[in-house]
Amino acid sequence: MTSARANLPETELAPITRANSLSDDVYDAIFAQLMSLKIAPGARITVDSLVKIFNVSQTPIREALGRLEGEGLVVKTHLVGYRAAPQITRRRFDELYEMRLLLEPHAAACAVGSLDDAGLARLTEVAQAMAGVEAPDLRTRYAAFARHDADFHDVVLALAGNELIRQTLRFQHSHFHIFRLMFQVRVTEEALGEHTAILAAFLARDAGAASAAMRAHLENSRDRLLSAFE
Ligand SMILES: [Zn+2]
Repeated sequence: MTSARANLPETELAPITRANSLSDDVYDAIFAQLMSLKIAPGARITVDSLVKIFNVSQTPIREALGRLEGEGLVVKTHLVGYRAAPQITRRRFDELYEMRLLLEPHAAACAVGSLDDAGLARLTEVAQAMAGVEAPDLRTRYAAFARHDADFHDVVLALAGNELIRQTLRFQHSHFHIFRLMFQVRVTEEALGEHTAILAAFLARDAGAASAAMRAHLENSRDRLLSAFE
């Protein structure tokens, strides 16, 4: 299969790539607006207005909204259309962090216990991607950072090897909801330093330090965002 694809002339593959990237670009743009609260939680989102803003047809807009709906960021209501998902409640926020604090420090220790060179390389790669985010504006940068944060935590959970824990956390899309509580650049700068500490524990193959660094990161993250509810 792979070799058959590879033998196709470039020209046959190119249109597919372009179609994909248009849809991806539209998705990324709406995602950035949701993450940075340019589209406020609960706000109505009409396909027509997005068509005008992005100057594209309805198809990539609808595809993007469908993907965002699957990620819990957009809600579709019969006869009403799309809305940005409402902000998570304080109660859900507390529940999310309680769950994460129970699962992720443990997962970090397990991940170090079974760490191989490929796993370490993968974690280093996602940590570096987060530190090296380059974007034309703060909103796009913030959105990219939210996605890299989700990736970083997902890699730790993947390395830990318990697929049920990984899926349980993934299903919550908690990173997206958490980043959407407020649009604040300080959130990203501080989290970067904390991820570096987690990575350092992995590089030292120190399970206890990895668990402690993950716990500290989650507690700090929770405390940074609490003011969103004041
Ligand atoms: Zn993080």
